[in-house]
Amino acid sequence: MSSSPSYDGRHRAPGRHRAPRRGPRVPAGFRGGFILPTAAAAALVVTATGATVAESSPMHVDPTGHQATTRAQSAALAEFDRVEATQQREVQATAAQSRVLEAQRIARSAERRAVAGKVAKQKAQAAAAAAVAKAEAKRKSSERWLMPIKGAVFTSGYGWRWGRMHQGDDFGTPIGTPLHAMSSGTIVFAGVQGGYGNKVEIEYWDGTVSVFGHMNSIAVSVGDKVAPGDVVGASGNTGHSTGPHLHLEIHPGGGAAIDPAPWLRDHGLQ
Ligand SMILES: [Zn+2]
Repeated sequence: MSSSPSYDGRHRAPGRHRAPRRGPRVPAGFRGGFILPTAAAAALVVTATGATVAESSPMHVDPTGHQATTRAQSAALAEFDRVEATQQREVQATAAQSRVLEAQRIARSAERRAVAGKVAKQKAQAAAAAAVAKAEAKRKSSERWLMPIKGAVFTSGYGWRWGRMHQGDDFGTPIGTPLHAMSSGTIVFAGVQGGYGNKVEIEYWDGTVSVFGHMNSIAVSVGDKVAPGDVVGASGNTGHSTGPHLHLEIHPGGGAAIDPAPWLRDHGLQ
């Protein structure tokens, strides 16, 4: 213990350390305690008590903090309003878009109906035109005229012959040659009649009646409907006949017989 200086020894060394102060240097008037009612002392008291009060009631004593809170709330409210306004605008925009889309849909629907109507009308017109054309073709086909025999040779014409009236044209043709209806019509006679022998009469669509005489055979009956070219029997040599031939008479409107030659020419025959 002799070599190292003791605590007491160090403090006892004179002149090396200043004497420790007992407190802060203050003016002479403050010495004796911090209780003098000066302005500085009053400020210290307010600060100390203010800190205590601020912890328990910040709304009244901490205006800076209160303003910050209000600003944050206002900002939140503003943000809320902004989001709500945006959503409202979006809803309105969506509604407006829906109205536009609906209007477009209606317009398209109307346009589609109009187009469909036009198409249907055109189809109907085309169908009607086709039906007319078909009917016309059928009419032309059913109303066409043709000779009752093919490859026949004209042998005797209409007029007075041997003291009596010859009512038609004669066409020499082998027995058994098919005889055809000259157009569409109805069989009004089918059978044997005097000098005609086997005879067929056809009343055509325009009222004309044709008479086939001296037939070898008859293939139709009264009332039968015939189309142009239908076979009604075969040529022959029955009745008053000097040889196998077709005796043909033409009676316009079912009346008196006329000269067949000009009538045949008028109908594009012979
Ligand atoms: Zn004759």
